[in-house]
Amino acid sequence: MSEETDVLVVGAGPVGLLTALGLARHGVRVTVIEAGAAIEDSPRAIVYHWTVLEDLDRLGILADVKARGICKTDYAYRVHETGEMIYYSIDVLADETPYAYNVHLGQHELAAIALEHLGRHGGAAVRWSTEATALRQDAEGVTVSSPRGELRARWVVACDGARSTVRKLLAMPFEGMTWPERFVATNVFYDFQSHGYARANFLIDPVHGAVIVKIDDRDLWRVTYSEDGRLPEETVGERIAEHFRALLPGQEPYELERHQPYRMHQRAAARLRERRVLLAGDAAHATNPTGGLGLTSGLFDSFALTAPLAAVVLEGASDRLLDRWAAERRRLFVEIASPAASENKRVVYSEPDPDRRRADVEEIRRQLSDPDALRRRLKFTEQLRSRPLLAAA
Ligand SMILES: Cc1cc2nc3c(=O)[nH]c(=O)nc-3n(C[C@H](O)[C@H](O)[C@H](O)COP(=O)(O)OP(=O)(O)OC[C@H]3O[C@@H](n4cnc5c(N)ncnc54)[C@H](O)[C@@H]3O)c2cc1C
Repeated sequence: MSEETDVLVVGAGPVGLLTALGLARHGVRVTVIEAGAAIEDSPRAIVYHWTVLEDLDRLGILADVKARGICKTDYAYRVHETGEMIYYSIDVLADETPYAYNVHLGQHELAAIALEHLGRHGGAAVRWSTEATALRQDAEGVTVSSPRGELRARWVVACDGARSTVRKLLAMPFEGMTWPERFVATNVFYDFQSHGYARANFLIDPVHGAVIVKIDDRDLWRVTYSEDGRLPEETVGERIAEHFRALLPGQEPYELERHQPYRMHQRAAARLRERRVLLAGDAAHATNPTGGLGLTSGLFDSFALTAPLAAVVLEGASDRLLDRWAAERRRLFVEIASPAASENKRVVYSEPDPDRRRADVEEIRRQLSDPDALRRRLKFTEQLRSRPLLAAA
């Protein structure tokens, strides 16, 4: 294989495929290479905040996303020690945006929708089972090697996930820390709603903390809990029944569909641009998933990148736009997304001090019962969106 394109995207995850789609819609020739033989379907992101829906609409895929996912407005906190439920709803934003709802949809399905739409663009191609293994840059472009041959592009966008090979090939530090706990994401059939649960719930407890989210109308739910990362990973499955005994609200039998353990990090690449290579999504930054800020940040990276990169490729716009993109996207992650995700994790999973837990719950009750405070809280993820770098973008 020896092929030339304008932009080579490494990684066919949701960020890579949506970036490719955004570029293709601007008329940029784009090739995606993916190490796997198909879209990776491990249980990860599932909730799309209302703030990303407008951009999915602009990309022409929101109707498909809504058709395949669950659209909903309800949320709850549950205090495990007392059984108290604190409900709230995104309805409170209905006067301000037509997108006052969430969509629940597995991230592999979002990626599959992006792939279908990408297939409608003549200048776009996806190469499966094609792992980037080496990279060299010169003044005009980048040559990426894989066991299948070489690809040449003017620009590379690395969307190859938290363990990014491209980031390592650039010797780019991934600065930050790794949490001692392990998260376990489970997909389980269980009727949480008959026990008063909303379709997205934060269960507050320093031992049995969990995020519990409805996946589909078959009553498949995602239950993500944490455990001591020093326990052996091979026996995660054997401990699930014990966790479920404590955190499922009733005695009815459940059916476990799948489970997956994860290490969690708060990390960002030292720079998101190295000459002609740009890092986006988890390749650029990784966070624990509490509050769903990981893919949200990656989607906002992608939405902010496509117009300026297209202008550089097609119109000879200054590549300083890409420096601005890189600096802004890193800053928003490090200063806003990452600290918020750490605080979400503390409140839901890991606050050991009972007085502080009571104060957390008191503050949650206060914010969720005051419509102005609730609106401010629900608008938090707007802060993760970059302002357009081009006037017309
Ligand atoms: C349990 C859990 C729940 C989560 N829930 C949420 C949520 O609700 N909301 C949210 O916003 N975020 C959530 N996240 C975070 C979210 O999953 C990630 O942010 C998201 O996967 C990032 O997407 P990506 O496209 O950047 O990377 P990935 O999805 O990791 O995709 C990277 C792709 O690159 C490919 N690849 C890797 N190396 C190479 C190579 N050398 N050459 C070619 N291809 C390569 C991989 O095979 C993969 O397909 C969650 C994470 C976890 C673990």
